[in-house]
Order: sequence, then structure tokens, then C-alpha cells
Amino acid sequence: MTPAGRLRSAWAIAALAWAFGAPVQAADYAGPLFDTHLHYNEEAWNGNAGPFPPAEALARMQRNGVRAIVGNSRPNEGTRILAALRETREAGVTVVPFIRLYRNRADYTNWFRDESIHEMVLAELARGTAAGPYRGIGEFHLYDSANADGPVARKLMALAEQRQLAVLAHVDDVAVDKLMAHTPSGGRALRLIWAHTGIGGVPVARVRELLDRYPGLVGELSYRPGLTCAGDPLPEAPGANAGSGGERYPARARGGRLCPEWRALIEAYPTRFMIGSDTWVNQRWVDYDGLMQGYRRWLGELPPSLAQQLAWGNAAALFGLAPALFTGAETRR
Ligand SMILES: [Zn+2]
Repeated sequence: MTPAGRLRSAWAIAALAWAFGAPVQAADYAGPLFDTHLHYNEEAWNGNAGPFPPAEALARMQRNGVRAIVGNSRPNEGTRILAALRETREAGVTVVPFIRLYRNRADYTNWFRDESIHEMVLAELARGTAAGPYRGIGEFHLYDSANADGPVARKLMALAEQRQLAVLAHVDDVAVDKLMAHTPSGGRALRLIWAHTGIGGVPVARVRELLDRYPGLVGELSYRPGLTCAGDPLPEAPGANAGSGGERYPARARGGRLCPEWRALIEAYPTRFMIGSDTWVNQRWVDYDGLMQGYRRWLGELPPSLAQQLAWGNAAALFGLAPALFTGAETRR
């Protein structure tokens, strides 16, 4: 082989190595996020004191490109505070208020049979928030699916459907069927956001079955076991975190990649999944940047239009938020 031939061969080998050997890195999703599972509980801020006053909480949303939230807080005052603040509007965050069923921690394990919770929900509905009427009920928990048959659980599911309120429920798959059965439509008309899409790791085949059965069921993906698989650590890429609108996101997270089984599920049900932070304890506020970066990382593996649906579009459609709400902000230079 001539020297020139050797040179050509070396270039060919290098090109092949580049084409097939180098890891292909998808860019992180850089569009708006809708955090559909946010708590602003009293331990974060009680109206006077706490480690995450409104300016801190809003700064976390803003620097992560979170443009709307489902707000639900223990007690509900936390949501009403966020909904009323001028700073919330200035941060470009739309609050979609939900009624949390908990005045205190004791309510977690008794709400489904406590008539005073039903009365509290009716009072909150009548009161509303500065950001408008409440749009949903929850998050609530059922640690034993049998409690989905409690008298107050039954009443609230019927009320939700009648008043077109969405429901944010941290329950198992058995309780999804039970809750749906308590609605006038038998679950055909209720919009139920399934917190964590089964935090116990219910098999994907069962998730598919429920999505097929209930047209208003959507899965929120925080804490979902099996969603992401171990990822390759990514090299730091200076400048790689700038959003398409010139925004800057904090340093790139080294989270997992979307597992194949979940990618297939999401591709089969593109309108049925959403993302959320679940700031149920203050540590989740500490971790907020990393949580949102983790979402941006695996959303970036999806086709852009599908990523946008999960990140924003599905929730915006559910709550009737105009697309114009974010297009202006995202293209801001
Ligand atoms: Zn939660």
C-alpha cells in the first residue's frame, strides 16, 4: 500500500469508528416543563418561615424552565399562597390548583372515611384561589386498596367527575379500578392522574391494560420503578445546557436512560404520560434541579414532538393552557 493509500485507510477506519463506535448522545430536551406533582407543604414554607420561601421555590421552577405546576399542599394554604403571589406571575409560572385532602399528617391514613375531609373539599371548592377555581383533588394516598371503597373516597370520586375535577392519586392498580368504579360513568369520564404510575412497580402490561380501559387515565412518572436504566456517565459539555430559548439550565444531570420497555409504552401512548417533581419532603426541593435535569436527559432521547407532549403538551391540554403561554417565553432572546 502506498503512503497515500495508508492515509486513506486510516481516515476510513477513523470515520467508521466515529460512525459506529462513538456513543451517540441525544441533546437534552430544552423546552418548557409542566410539573404535574408539586407540593408546597408547610415544612417548606408555612406562610411566615421555612427553608423554601416563595422566592426560593419559584427560583427553582424558573431556572429549570418549569412554566406550570399542579400545586397541591398540606395544608391548602401553600397552594393558595403560590396562586396569589405577584412573584409567581413574574416568574412565568402558571399554578393549576388542586385540593390536597390533608390538613395534617394524620389525615393521610383516614381521609377516605372522614366526613370532615369531604366538607373541607366543598369549602375549598367554594373558596377557590387567586389563580382561579381548583381544577382537581389530590394528591391522596391509599396504602391499602380496600380503602378506595371508604365512604368519603366514593363521594369524592363522584364529585370529581360531576364537577370535572381531575384526580391525583397515589394508589396501586387495584385501587385505580375501585376508584373508577365509584364514578357515575364507571371510569369512562374521570380524569385520573396516576401518581408515579404505580409506585410499587406494577408490570407494564398491567399499566397498558388500565390505559386501554380508562380513556381519562394518565400516568405521572416521578419515582416510577423501572422507568430509567443505568446510564453512561456523560462527559461535561460546556454550553450544552443552554435551552433553545437561550436559557441556561444548571449542570447536566447524570441520570439514567429510558428503559426499552418504558420507551415502547410511552411511544404507544404518547398522550398518556406526564412528569412531576413530587416535593413531598424538603429534600426534594433540595434535589429539584437534578430531578428536572433527569427528566430533560431522557426526554431528549425521544422524538422532539413526543418529548414536548410528555414535558408540557399533555398536561397543558388537560388543563386548557394555551400553547401561546409558553411559545413567547421560550423564544425570548
Ligand atoms: Zn406527592
